Amino acid sequence: MLKVNLAGYNIDSAVVEKMKKEGWDGKNNISPETISAAYARISRDPRPVDELRADAREEVDKARKSNENIVFKMGHHSVAEHAYLNFDILGLSRFAVESLEEARLCAYTEKSQRYITLRGDYVTPDEFTKEEKKIFMAAVAVQVEAYKTLFPVLHEYQRSKNSGMLQTKTGQNVVEGWAKEDARYVLPLATECQLGFSCNARNLEHIIRKLKYSPFEEVRTLAKTLYDRAVAVVPSLIILSDPDAFRKQFGAEVSDGLLRDGKVRVEKAVKKAGVKTSGPGKIFNAVRLVDCTENPEIKIIAAMMHTSTGNMYADCIKSAVKLGTKGRKAFFVEIFKGLNAHDSLYREFETVNFVYEIIMSSSAFGQMKRHRMMSMTKQDYDIRLGYTIPPAIIETKQVDIYKRAMDAGESAYKKISKIHPEAAVYVLTNAHRRRVLVNANLREVYHIARLRMDGHAQWDIRDISGGMIAETKKAAPVAAALACGKDVFSETYSKFMKG
Ligand SMILES: Cc1cc2nc3c(=O)[nH]c(=O)nc-3n(C[C@H](O)[C@H](O)[C@H](O)COP(=O)(O)OP(=O)(O)OC[C@H]3O[C@@H](n4cnc5c(N)ncnc54)[C@H](O)[C@@H]3O)c2cc1C
Repeated sequence: MLKVNLAGYNIDSAVVEKMKKEGWDGKNNISPETISAAYARISRDPRPVDELRADAREEVDKARKSNENIVFKMGHHSVAEHAYLNFDILGLSRFAVESLEEARLCAYTEKSQRYITLRGDYVTPDEFTKEEKKIFMAAVAVQVEAYKTLFPVLHEYQRSKNSGMLQTKTGQNVVEGWAKEDARYVLPLATECQLGFSCNARNLEHIIRKLKYSPFEEVRTLAKTLYDRAVAVVPSLIILSDPDAFRKQFGAEVSDGLLRDGKVRVEKAVKKAGVKTSGPGKIFNAVRLVDCTENPEIKIIAAMMHTSTGNMYADCIKSAVKLGTKGRKAFFVEIFKGLNAHDSLYREFETVNFVYEIIMSSSAFGQMKRHRMMSMTKQDYDIRLGYTIPPAIIETKQVDIYKRAMDAGESAYKKISKIHPEAAVYVLTNAHRRRVLVNANLREVYHIARLRMDGHAQWDIRDISGGMIAETKKAAPVAAALACGKDVFSETYSKFMKG
């Protein structure tokens, strides 16, 4: 008979501390490790899972030993995914957040620069010399001042342009948000953020191992702090992040190989291949589709035929080709029937991929990086790529103040980068740009379109996602026909279905 137990859930650590203080069943046995240990035994121990859990709970030390053996000796690493942790992270720079959020299978919720007025709190990189700190702080002061000047001007502009929205509190907040999100373009990447970050112990171990080799002091400190907080509750599941503990326990060295020097190896390989850095190349503002699966619509249909017929893939391809253009359109019309704005597309849409090259502001990057079901690789921020200017800055004739903030950042960047070429980036702004490669399957492209082309989305990411969809439609006009923002889904759907 079916039986489902709620085996555990996130509890606020203050509650856990209170339980410990009050002597919850007399033992210090509150740890998510017991769940991992119990589940690890499922494969070999015939007892019901809830009994295994009760057993693990009784003796945390035994559960830890068992995790160490099963996870690290036997290599059954996925067991660590059953233990989940939540972290409040405060006072981390907007730039360091980028390093943390490279890890995909985690949850993040950041302080929005749209909904909260920024006070100009920022992180000063520890690696800077006294002289560099002076240069850095002077530039940041100009940027913060520009933010404070621009915000009321932009707010007034948005209020007069959208006076119809001012009748309600929600409308007023939205209008104010538009002003804030444009003003923040002048703020430095050093701006402090706060976020909620949740992940399982396996991810956490990887994140700590990776971040501790970051070239940035702040990021290395984050790695250490995450380790210090987590080791108190899940020591057996993050042991690879502590080479000393691992050596003591298993008598072997942790090889951090590519985590430690992967970047250097790539640079060496590129150098050996004789490729020279030729500068930023052509600077374009549009999204470019640089690669995609050949005949994507045939491939999607073939994948669907494969799922539903039991035929071989090669035969499905032949059948999809045989359908011809008209037949394929009819196929898509059929499978799209009943689709609504909140549905995700069929899994078979994941069989085709699109690669886009995009030059984007740091602001847009901050949003794009949150889409975890795609691969995004990035170049460093590069002042030769220029910076993005919000249209409202031009319309309110605030370009001079805006440029002053950019110039202050770039001038400080050039000075600091003579000694600290990497950490100098902290003084660049949310408007500065980098070039990225985005590789996404069509199912994720649809998801990005729904959220980011929508009227609620911020204009910069809306432009970029609009560009991605325009390019995608050139390669897959029918399969991508319903990729649009949530707000126009209904009319797009009706139009497509009619003809
Ligand atoms: C208008 C707007 C305002 C926003 N404001 C904020 C804000 O103030 N602060 C902030 O931090 N973020 C904000 N975001 C970002 C938002 O919360 C998402 O992180 C971001 O849009 C990525 O989308 P996603 O999580 O749906 O999907 P993706 O990461 O693109 O993944 C695609 C889909 O895969 C599934 N998926 C992926 N990973 C997981 C997982 N770990 N667990 C379960 N399912 C998963 C989900 O079905 C998801 O929809 C905002 C986004 C929008 C559009």
